[in-house]
Amino acid sequence: MSWREIQKQNFTSWPKLAAFLQIEGLQGYAHPHFPLNLPRRLAEKIEKGNPHDPVLRQFLPSLEEAHKTPGFSLDPVGDQGARKSQKLLKKYEGRALLVTTSACAMHCRFCFRQNFDYVSKDFTFDQELKLIGEDPSITEIILSGGDPLSLSNTVLQNLIQHIVAIPHVKRLRFHTRFPIGIPERIDAPLLEILQATRLQPIFVIHCNHPKELDADIFQALRRLQALRIPVLNSAVLLRGVNDTPAILHELFELLSDHGILAYYLNQLDRVQGAAHFEVPQQEGLKLLSELMTSLPGYAVPRYVQEVAGEPYKTPLYL
Ligand SMILES: *Cc1c(COP(=O)(O)O)cnc(C)c1O
Ligand code: SF4
Repeated sequence: MSWREIQKQNFTSWPKLAAFLQIEGLQGYAHPHFPLNLPRRLAEKIEKGNPHDPVLRQFLPSLEEAHKTPGFSLDPVGDQGARKSQKLLKKYEGRALLVTTSACAMHCRFCFRQNFDYVSKDFTFDQELKLIGEDPSITEIILSGGDPLSLSNTVLQNLIQHIVAIPHVKRLRFHTRFPIGIPERIDAPLLEILQATRLQPIFVIHCNHPKELDADIFQALRRLQALRIPVLNSAVLLRGVNDTPAILHELFELLSDHGILAYYLNQLDRVQGAAHFEVPQQEGLKLLSELMTSLPGYAVPRYVQEVAGEPYKTPLYL
C-alpha cells in the first residue's frame, strides 16, 4: 500500500474512533476548521477503553478546546508579523521557513499553527524563491507547514530543484511528524531525492511520548540516518501526556537508543483552545533538572519557548 492509501485510512470521525477504542460516553468536539485526523498506526497504540491515554489526548478534539482562556491567542508566536510573503516566514538569522502546505499526517490539538491562513491548494513558490534568492544571508531553508511530507515526491523534487539553484542556500531542513504516523512516507523515491541533492538535509521529527514510537518508525528513520542525515526530535511539553520525569526519561532515552538526538522540548505555545495542555514553566524546569540528572547531556533537550520578536527560541534557564 502506498503512503497515500495508508493516509486515506486515517480516523477522521470521533464516533468511528470511539467505537474502535471501545470508549463510550465521551463527547468529541466538532471543531469548525481543525477536525480529528489520526493515522491508524497511532490509533492502534491507544489503550482500549482508556479516555486518558496519552496518545489519544494529543488528537481527540475535546470540549475544552471551546474555552477562551485569557493569554491564549490565535497566533501565539507572531507568525503573521514574520510573513515575508504568503508562504515565507523569516524570524531568525540565516534561516527562512517555507509554509509548504496546510496538510498534515495528523492533527495535534495543541498545534500553534492551527489558525494559520494557509494558501489553499497551490504548490507554487515563485514569490518565496525570489525572496530567498535576493537574500544572501539565508543559508538554510526549513520546509514546514503543515507537514512538508504531505507533498508528493514530484512536488518536493521540483521545489528542491529550485532551492538548489540558489547558490547561498546550503542546508534543507524538514520539520515533520509524518514518520510518527505514517513512516511508509520515507519511501525509495524520497530517499533518492535526498541523496541526490547538493544540500545537506536535516530532519527534525516531532514525538512527544514513547508510545508513539515503534520498530517500523525506527527503521524508516534509519534509512535517513544511513544517508548521513541527522535526525533530531522536537517535542512539546504537554499536561497529561509527557509531564512526568519517568515518561520524559523514557522518551529521550529511547530516541537516543536509535541515534535520534534531543533538540527541543518546547514550552506550549499559547494557542487558543490548548490551555488544558499547559504545564507551568516552574514545573517544566523541575522536570528538566530531573532529566539532566538521569540522562547523558546529549539526550537532554533544550527547554525553549518561542517568544514573538526574539532573535532565537528563548531558552528557559534553570
Ligand atoms: C522555529 C523556527 C525556526 C527554527 O529555529 P531553530 O532554533 O533554528 O530551530 C526558523 N524559522 C522560524 C520562522 C521558526 O519559527
Ligand atoms: S503535525 Fe505539526 S503542523 Fe501538523 S497539526 Fe501536528 S503540530 Fe501542527
